[in-house]
Amino acid sequence: MRIRSIGVVGAGTMGSGIAALAASAGIPVVLLDIPGERDRNEPAKRGLQRALKARPPAFMDPKRAGLIAVGNFEDDLDLLARCDWVIEAVIEELGPKRALFDRLTPILAPGTIVSSNTSGIPMRLLVEGRDEAFRRRFLGAHFFNPPRYLHLLEVIPTPETDPDVVETIEQFATLVLGKGVVRAKDVPGFIGNRLGIYGMIQAIRLMERFGLTIDEVDALTGELIGRPRSATFRTADLSGLDILKHVADGLSAATGNDYRLPVWVEDLVARGSLGEKTGVGFYRREGRDILTLDPATMEYHPRAETRSPELGALSRRPLQERLRQSLDLPGPHGEFLRTLFLTTAHETLTLAPDLAWDIPSIDRALEWGFGWELGPFRQMDAVGLAVVRAGLGDAGLDEPDLLRSAGDGFYASEGGRETCRGFDGAPAPLPERPGVVSLTRLKGAGAVLRDGDDASLVDLGDGVLMLELHSKLNTLGEGTFAVLRDGLDLIERQGYAGLVIGSDDARAFSAGANLVPVAHLAQQGDWAALENLVAGFQQATMSLRRAPFPVVSAAFGLTLGGGAEIAMHSDRVQAAGELAMGLVEFGVGLIPAGGGTKELLARFTEDLSPYLEADPFEAARRAFTLITLAQTSSSALEARSMGFLRPQDGITMNRDRLIGDAKAVVLALAPGYVAPVDRRFQALGRDALGNLRYAIYAFREAGQASAHDAVIGEKLAWVLSAGDGPPREVGEQDILDFEREAFLSLLGTEKTQQRIAHTLQTGKPLRN
Ligand code: NAD
Repeated sequence: MRIRSIGVVGAGTMGSGIAALAASAGIPVVLLDIPGERDRNEPAKRGLQRALKARPPAFMDPKRAGLIAVGNFEDDLDLLARCDWVIEAVIEELGPKRALFDRLTPILAPGTIVSSNTSGIPMRLLVEGRDEAFRRRFLGAHFFNPPRYLHLLEVIPTPETDPDVVETIEQFATLVLGKGVVRAKDVPGFIGNRLGIYGMIQAIRLMERFGLTIDEVDALTGELIGRPRSATFRTADLSGLDILKHVADGLSAATGNDYRLPVWVEDLVARGSLGEKTGVGFYRREGRDILTLDPATMEYHPRAETRSPELGALSRRPLQERLRQSLDLPGPHGEFLRTLFLTTAHETLTLAPDLAWDIPSIDRALEWGFGWELGPFRQMDAVGLAVVRAGLGDAGLDEPDLLRSAGDGFYASEGGRETCRGFDGAPAPLPERPGVVSLTRLKGAGAVLRDGDDASLVDLGDGVLMLELHSKLNTLGEGTFAVLRDGLDLIERQGYAGLVIGSDDARAFSAGANLVPVAHLAQQGDWAALENLVAGFQQATMSLRRAPFPVVSAAFGLTLGGGAEIAMHSDRVQAAGELAMGLVEFGVGLIPAGGGTKELLARFTEDLSPYLEADPFEAARRAFTLITLAQTSSSALEARSMGFLRPQDGITMNRDRLIGDAKAVVLALAPGYVAPVDRRFQALGRDALGNLRYAIYAFREAGQASAHDAVIGEKLAWVLSAGDGPPREVGEQDILDFEREAFLSLLGTEKTQQRIAHTLQTGKPLRN
């Protein structure tokens, strides 16, 4: 079975988001909704517009909206006959969903798969009364909001779903849509909502019990315990309080247990304070300030920082320790966290066998759907099962069977192979996820060949070596480059096939060069050391390009400045779909001098070379604009249209598979590999310089550039023109020399030093 096109029925929040994700992946979509009054397709068009306006963006490239055909499901249902997968995402009511399936049954092609995105209606009710052919092709496929950004997809087969159908959807969702697929049982709330929403409701109730504020609960239930910064209440504001209430009420009705929200939360919903989408919920935005609700008075007050010496000390510890020690915090903070942890653990242990087929699925559902760094079972392991048992006893809770049979941990590592207990308590090897390279597992198996503070060398197997970046946000400096040099040497000496550069950090491939030593040397006026530093950076990037074996950068997330330069000097970039790539040096008063300016100029000049009539100035102009505006891509697709990625660079939609895919590219390129020759190309000299100077003048006149922006612009123009001589042929090294000179001269200016200091202090650029 092959999925070539998708139909999405229901163009609301979820339908339009799913359509945007599928189109971003290059899949044509038919998007239908109820007929409108005047314009029959107006509801579906509105859905498409909503996706185009969504923040953060629902599309990886808005041009992909062209792959979506809109219609309504009275006039256009037959368009679905051509789709290989039809996703139902209409309102959460049994009647309309069943009515839709009635109408779909006679028109669908025999092989078409049908899924429902329902959060709460059991699949067995949805297929009740349908014929066998429909039942075999039907399953639940539950996306999370927003579909582009939340990794989890819960797949819920019924006992009658054809196993090939399940396999096809799981493969397609994993590889093409980039989702983290977890198989769930057909029970209310499946895995994610059943446990995730339970945890949120507990947090709200315990806040009242221990007399805490909303600010305190969000400080305690966010990064401190390895959950997203949005913690409990801000997450609820982002998802929508109406959605939270809907799921909570649904769970209460379906399970007979009490998942109800406190009355004051219901009041918020009743008065339309639904969170982010209405501008007010648990928080209210007022200009630049964010105010927090006081549930006792239902008034909003300025946000109050939650601080204590114990919390401060704890926040600097690794997650495992934070989880353990957060349970020992004094006063109501500790009582709250202890009770929240124990009740959530108890609920998880009791329900797990009803929700899933194995323990890792439970952990992944919370990690991928709710952004927990560690799922509930991994958290219990981190805290220690003896502590969990004692805590449950103290709280008067029974010891669930699953805990009784778990010995001293659910997971264990044996000779680099991870095992996990089944629901019967017996440990079994954790199944490999095909195509997913686990650095943790490799490291446990002794694959680390060199372990530095900022980077390590890891043997990925099959003759591929990896430079693993692991400094803070993977910033680059001599520590990284020393390990890189060792790696290149090792590959030559020991006959490895090639190198992958990457990391399993959650946010950054690399946020760029480490500016701390740069600022320090500039303040001391140690120009010789600075010259060495920049030259060292250039040698590092050029060594990737010149290496006699393939080098592939597995870029994802923040890939900025020096990070982008590393990627651009690799033979290939294998980029994750989510990629924020850009040369942002302008913001700190500098120009890219690790070969980034040279690389853009050389690439854009090469791009123009087949066209006899092309204006050669276009190349310098395009590089100048990208660098002066410090433009950053919002996806890999966008990085490609901006010119940071080349057509031959690959895109991996599923971040989990990125290192595996990069390794495969190394192996594909290795046989008969020859390093690219150094490029020679035409630099335009004074002709380009005059034009670029005029552009700077125009920016200044329009008030879009400060005096110092003009100074930096002038240096950049000088590099891109290769000085003010006549047009002439240059080599890559010539432009690198210009880069270095411009970089050092800018570092000597007070305003650039101010920009760097500001960015180091605040993390933000300064336009002085
Ligand atoms: P929504 O209200 O935003 O969109 C529902 C769409 O259904 C609308 O475009 C509407 O025009 C259409 N519709 C209205 N009446 C209809 C009818 N009688 N027949 C057919 N269609 C009709 O809802 P949503 O949030 O996109 O939810 C869609 C589905 O996805 C639901 O089953 C919901 O439970 C599920 N879901 C929602 C979320 C979430 O966070 N919003 C998350 C996961 C799953």
